[in-house]
Amino acid sequence: MSYKMAPGNDRFGVRMIGPTLLKYGTDSQKEKYLKEITNGDAQWCQGYSEPNSGSDLASINTKGKYDEETNSITITGTKVWTTLAHRANRMFILVRTQEGSKRHEGLSLILLNMKDKGINVNPIKNISGKSSFNEVVLDNVKVSAKNVVGKLHEGWMIALDLLNFERSGIDYIGWAERCFDDLLSYCKEKKLLETNSIKVKLTYLKSSLESAKIMTYKALWIKEQSNSIHMEPSISKILATEINIKIHDFAFEILNTKSIYINNNNKDYFAERIIKNRLFFVSGGILGGTTEIQKNIIARRGLGLPR
Ligand SMILES: Cc1cc2nc3c(=O)[nH]c(=O)nc-3n(C[C@H](O)[C@H](O)[C@H](O)COP(=O)(O)OP(=O)(O)OC[C@H]3O[C@@H](n4cnc5c(N)ncnc54)[C@H](O)[C@@H]3O)c2cc1C
Repeated sequence: MSYKMAPGNDRFGVRMIGPTLLKYGTDSQKEKYLKEITNGDAQWCQGYSEPNSGSDLASINTKGKYDEETNSITITGTKVWTTLAHRANRMFILVRTQEGSKRHEGLSLILLNMKDKGINVNPIKNISGKSSFNEVVLDNVKVSAKNVVGKLHEGWMIALDLLNFERSGIDYIGWAERCFDDLLSYCKEKKLLETNSIKVKLTYLKSSLESAKIMTYKALWIKEQSNSIHMEPSISKILATEINIKIHDFAFEILNTKSIYINNNNKDYFAERIIKNRLFFVSGGILGGTTEIQKNIIARRGLGLPR
């Protein structure tokens, strides 16, 4: 879908909460939400990060008060960086449901309807002047405890598993591959392949792209084999986001674009896409967990190195 640039691609549903529900969801959650996702009827968003909780996700502060009598949870707090919340009709959110709990204890992963009373979405402008992410303020949002994924207060490992689905997403590779193929066609059309340095650079980019792709497939394969948290999704995230930057930078160089213009009158669709995607990939080493955090995971979980 990302190679074909399908509009409205619900990556939070298809790549993250869908596979998570397949593993941990109840039958009724699967029936309701997986159907919506596969039919393309839902747009999900991810409520993990908070104003003071990004890399250190276990410090989250959004509170959920469980009421045994009504079997419901009332959520209050603020999420930030919530991509596509302004378009989403569903949200998965990580909430501290056990009063007084610390760090990764007492957290629950909960499914919300964005129309639930008390959810306010405030768009934030990004580098290109558009709003793709938001602040989401939750003011006494009441939700049934049937919307908890897995057990109440035991959402941490599920939330981490979801992050690994996010990090091994094949769509990063789809974007990179599409850009590379279009660039190659452009170079052929303009007879640029006669220049040795261009040929060499394209060959290097193609081999790096293939390595990143193989690592992404490996990460997905490993996830199918075992439930534990592995380093491969972190490796694949670093490789896939970095190769996107390298290919888009080279495309930028080849197109000989001296300045960046962001406007709607840009007639060269390929150039416009290069600029837009390159600006987006400034954030590639931050979203879904920063590159430094991925390196920490590789070092500790993967290689067993000390803190
Ligand atoms: C475009 C974009 C979209 C996003 N979409 C979403 C979304 O939809 N939902 C959502 O929940 N979140 C989203 N995020 C948030 C993203 O997950 C966080 O920005 C990210 O986890 C980093 O957290 P932070 O911004 O608080 O930075 P911080 O955690 O404050 O980190 C600041 C810097 O310190 C470094 N650092 C922090 N801790 C360590 C450490 N232990 N070791 C080494 N270095 C460290 C980091 O690498 C970083 O360079 C998005 C972010 C971006 C940029």
